[in-house]
This record gives sequence, C-alpha cells and structure tokens, in this order.
Amino acid sequence: MTQAAIEKENKLIAQEYKELLRISYQTLTDEDKTLIRSAFEVAVDAHKNQRRKSGEAYIFHPIAVAKIVASEIGLDAVSIASALLHDVVEDTEYTLDDLDRMFGETVARIVDGLTKIAHLKKEMNISQQAENFRKMLLTLNDDVRVIIIKIADRYHNMLTMDSMPEHKQVKIASETLYIYAPLAHRIGLYNIKTELEDLSLKYTEPEVYNSIKDKIEESKEEQQAYIDAFSATIDNSLKKEGLNYIIKGRMKSIFSMRRKMLAQNVTYEEIYDKFAIRIIYESDAQNEKFLAWKIYSIVTDHFTPNPVRLRDWISSPKSTGYEALHITVMGPQGKWVEVQIRSERMHEIAEKGYAAHFKYKHGNQKEQGIEVWLNKLQEALENANTNAVDFVEEFKLNLYSKEIFVFTPKGDLKSLPKGATPLDFSFNIHTEVGMRTRGAKVNGKLVPLNTTLQSGDQVEIITSEQARPNQNWLDYATTARARAKIKSVLREEKKSVAEEGKEILRRKLKSQKINLNEDSINKMVTYFKLKTSLDLFYRVGIGSIDNTMLKDFASSYNNAFISFFKNRMRRTPAPEEINKDEITSKYDMLVFGKEEEKLEYKLSQCCNPIPGDSVFGFVSVSEGIKVHKKNCPNAISLQSNYAYRIITAKWIDSSQQEYQADIELTGIDNLGLINDITEVISDIMHVNMRNLNFSTDGGTFKGKITVVVKNKSILKKLTDNLKEIHGIDKVTRI
Ligand code: MN
Repeated sequence: MTQAAIEKENKLIAQEYKELLRISYQTLTDEDKTLIRSAFEVAVDAHKNQRRKSGEAYIFHPIAVAKIVASEIGLDAVSIASALLHDVVEDTEYTLDDLDRMFGETVARIVDGLTKIAHLKKEMNISQQAENFRKMLLTLNDDVRVIIIKIADRYHNMLTMDSMPEHKQVKIASETLYIYAPLAHRIGLYNIKTELEDLSLKYTEPEVYNSIKDKIEESKEEQQAYIDAFSATIDNSLKKEGLNYIIKGRMKSIFSMRRKMLAQNVTYEEIYDKFAIRIIYESDAQNEKFLAWKIYSIVTDHFTPNPVRLRDWISSPKSTGYEALHITVMGPQGKWVEVQIRSERMHEIAEKGYAAHFKYKHGNQKEQGIEVWLNKLQEALENANTNAVDFVEEFKLNLYSKEIFVFTPKGDLKSLPKGATPLDFSFNIHTEVGMRTRGAKVNGKLVPLNTTLQSGDQVEIITSEQARPNQNWLDYATTARARAKIKSVLREEKKSVAEEGKEILRRKLKSQKINLNEDSINKMVTYFKLKTSLDLFYRVGIGSIDNTMLKDFASSYNNAFISFFKNRMRRTPAPEEINKDEITSKYDMLVFGKEEEKLEYKLSQCCNPIPGDSVFGFVSVSEGIKVHKKNCPNAISLQSNYAYRIITAKWIDSSQQEYQADIELTGIDNLGLINDITEVISDIMHVNMRNLNFSTDGGTFKGKITVVVKNKSILKKLTDNLKEIHGIDKVTRI
C-alpha cells in the first residue's frame, strides 16, 4: 500500500470510531468514553497486521460489530468495549490476562466467552451443531452479553460474506438459520432476527430470495397508497383526541413470506397479509394502556374488526417482553389488514429488546423475560444426559410456538408454549408438584393429562404422595423443562429396578450353576443384544427377560467351553457392527398413530431412516406407508401438500411397549373393597387402569378392570396381589 492509501485508510478508521460514539443508544459518560477509547486503541494495535478476505483492514470488522452492539442493540459501554476486543484473544498475541489487567474482570470474562465460542468445532452436521449450540449456551455463565455480541458478530459476518467461496456461504447461512436467528428471536432482537433470516435465504436460495425481493420492490407504491388511504380515514378522529402519533407500514420479511408460501402452498400474489400497519403514539406511563384502547376504538369505528384476531400483548406481555395491541380489520379496498398499536416505549422495547428493558426497568412494568428465560435455560442445560439434538429441537419448539396464558386456581397468570398440557403446567408451577401429579381439572372439570390447554383456561393440579412419573408422561408433556425432569426420574427408576433385577438374576443363575460375574454379565449383554449391564438387569427386573430365556442362555453358556476353540478362530466384529446392533436393540420397533399400532411399512430411499431417528409415515398410493425422517428434504412439501396422508410414527423400545389386559374379579361385597382393589392396582403395583366396572348383587360382587402392563410377569404379580385382598374370591384374565 502507498503512504497515501494508508493515510486514507487511517482517516476512515478514525471516522468510523467517531461514528460509533455518536450513534450509541445509551448515553455515554466520560468514564464510558475512556473505556471505549482504550479498547479501540488496543484493538487497532492488536489487529494492525491483519486484513479481511475483502482486503480491508481487519479493524473495520470489530468496529462494525461494536456499532451494531451500540446502536441497533443498544448495549452499555462494557459491551461496546468487549465488542471491539472480541477477536483480540482469538486472533492476536494479546492474552486474557492482558485484557483483565487493562479492562477489568467483566470485559475479560465476556471476551473469554466469545473466544470459547470461536473455538467450538466448525463441522456442519446437525448433531455437532447442536452440541456446539449447547456448549455455547453454557458459556453464558450469567452474562447474556456474550451471546448478544456473538449475534452481532455473526450479523456483520453475514453482511460481508460476498467475498467468501460459495460452499462456505451456504454453510454459514444454514448455521445462522439453525442457531443464531432463533436465539436472536428469543432475546427479543426481532429486527436482527429478521435480517439474519433474510440474509441466510440470500445465500441458501438466491433465486427465491431475489424474486421475492423484486416483487416487494414492485409493489411498494401500491402499498404506500394503501397506507395513505388508511391514514386519511382515521387521521381526523385521532387528531381530535389530541393524540400525537405516526402511522407506518411494516412489510413482512422476505424469509417469512417464503415460509408462508411453502406452508400454505400459495404464490407471492396470494399472500393476503404482506404487511401490517403500525400506529406508534406518544404517552406518559399512566395513560399508555388507556390510549391504546382509545386508538383501538377509533380504528374500529372506521373499519370492521375481525373478532378472532385481537391480541392484547399489553395486559399480558409475551415472555420476551413484547407489548402491543394487535387487531385485524377490514381496511380500504375490502382487504384484511393487521394494525399494531404501540406506545413509543413499547415500540422501543420491540426494536431494542433487552437494552430497552434495562432502560425502563425502574418503571412500573413487570420484569419478565430474559432472567426467567435464562434460569429455565440453565436448568435444562444442567441436565447433562439430554441428547443435544433433542435439546435444541425442544428449545426451538418452545421458541417458535406461540404462547398461551392460563390461570392458577388463585388467578395467577402463567405463560406456556402453545400445545402445553396440564402436565406441563404442573411442572411449570414447581418440580415437586409435577412429580406428584395425579390428575388435573381444567375449568373445574377433570381432564386427561394430555389435554391441550387453551388460553384463558383455569388449571388445577391434583397431587398425591403416591403419584410418580411414568413412561407415558413423555407423550403428555411438551415443554423442555417437564420432559427433562421426567426423563431424569425415569432414569433413576430404571436404576432401582435394575438393582432388584441384578439380585433376581444372581439367584436364577445360581440355580443354573452359573456365577454372576463380569464374564457371565458380558456374555449375557451380548447374547441378549443389549448395550449395557444396566439394560440387562432392568429387563430381568421388569420380567422381559424371563426364565425360559435365561435357561436358553445358560445352556449355551455351559456349552461355551466346547465352542471356545471354534470361536477363537472367528474374527471379532468390527466396531460399526456393534454400534448398529446397539441402536436397533434400543429402538427395535416402529409404531404408528395415536394407538401405536404395528403396521406394514417401507423405509423411504430419499432419507434412509434408521432406528432412533425422528420419523413420520406417509401413506403413498401404490406402496403403502413410507417412512421418512422428519428432517428429510422432502418432508416439508409432503407435510404441507398432503397433510391428510401423514401418519405419526415413532421408534420404540419393544421392552417398553405396553399391553392391555382385562381382568375379571368376583367375591363378597364389603365396605372398602373397591378402594382396596384400586389401591393394589395403582398405588402398590403402579399399573395404569383404562376402564373400571363394578356391580354388586345380593352381597356378591363382580368387577371388570382393563389395565395396561408392560408384560405378562407384571400381570401375574398383579393378579396374585389382587387375590390376597380380603373378600376377593376369584381373579381371572379374560
Ligand atoms: Mn468476529
């Protein structure tokens, strides 16, 4: 570079720096400015010999990230300084200790978090991405600023990706869609989330992106005319009330239009709600809510509202902190249009999210959102046994599903994801309540635990000391929190059944003259195609490995001495083979529909599902049920175009499968008999009842019960126990 070029570049850098201070959303004190100044100087020095792929000096990147952090997100001076320094430890000679000494512990900790994220593996496959995501969230410690600066970093990288090779662009873009956009959404950074999605689409599907972008450009004038017509109709009435406000149009993002087109199978022209109208009004804190409804009343005086599309996020803000009043009205030209009514404060929160929350924290607003979210996140993360992909999927599920609001019996409001059940509600109240859930009443009526709750429901949980989670609960609970808790209890339970099973096994082997030791255990694990000794003991404990099976094993084990020499000649199986066996023995059966029926099926060629994958069935015309992975490239189009031909499917562990059995009881009628029977069934044996039918006739008693059990040996134990009850004469299975 020539001297002149260098001088020109330095001048530009200085300009950018001044701009950074000027656009800060937070008011900066002199102390703040000193901190930012020295961070800037260290960053300039650290990156002085680096250039980006585009050729420009590297320092432009940290400055740009700091500008996003300062202005678009609106964070404090510590965050701005950390953003300037975010690549220093990763890419240059400076160490964390240096930063700690120069800028203090907070900046050093934030940069440390960012450096750790940069070190995560960069592979593309989903499970590694998911694992990375989890690790990334773990680096949060309690400073959400790490994640926010990382989002800003990613945002700037997406903005400047043109000089990268295409395969890298696509890789980075899909990672952004998978991880960063959902995170930005959850933190309440709606604008950045939208930008990230649109930019990702630009690289993953350039033609689609460009065609929608062009169409938006073409329809701009038409839209402005529509907004003008709308404003003209209500302007006078609003002014008469002395309101200060602005009316703006808000276009749907390119990405969300694309999603709509796919989900509803419509063309761009057929999307009816391409944009919303925003009315942003001035107000003091006291009148904010009142004015919103006043504006509502004026708008609906002139335009007919759609009664089912009123959303009052003012009385109950979203858990991200979003507040506004949304209505849909029949606007000019007889078209439905969404109108969003927000005060300036609400608008700022919608735009700035977290930062604006900080600013308004001392107001009379309920402090919702980020802290609650972080706590829940931490809780879910601490459950180290959750599979990372499951975790991310459940996390995202919770993220995108809209929220519902339900009431406790005392009238407290709780927010839950859409689709939540009474079981989710009970875990949301408290883990202890969740664990002891016996039943639930919704609006005073007893309902099954898997009932889908609706906004406005009043939910009461009935608990009992004897109640405890069972396998079915995993089908009833939808929130990550409840599912993680249930899974961990089931694991504990499995352990205790396994301990019992181990003793049973020791006894039974003894009668076959075999000692329970490492060698015999290993041989049994292999013989029964299991993964671990825990699986073995558990299966013995629940009786799915029974006496006959053990005898068969014993005879092959006792003959093993003879075949020992033969076996020595055989090669040991390759590790992949063992792995495959493990998976198939854990998830060895595919079942369909709510009833979990066994049906004929074929695995599809396009995505080759294997046991354990999340899958669905597609009823094809000529080939019966074809099973696809949920993330199969064809899945979205199948699901959106042929929803009626989709049948749910899941892999199960056949040892966990349950069977229905009818039991008939007869005896002498006495007080408390029915109570004794149900106690044996549910409290002592922990067996589920489906149906119950009792009748008495002249002092005799007759009953029919349908129970759900895992296997015959449990059923046998149950009938034996029932026979013990005083007054029972006969117990038979029909
Ligand atoms: Mn960076």
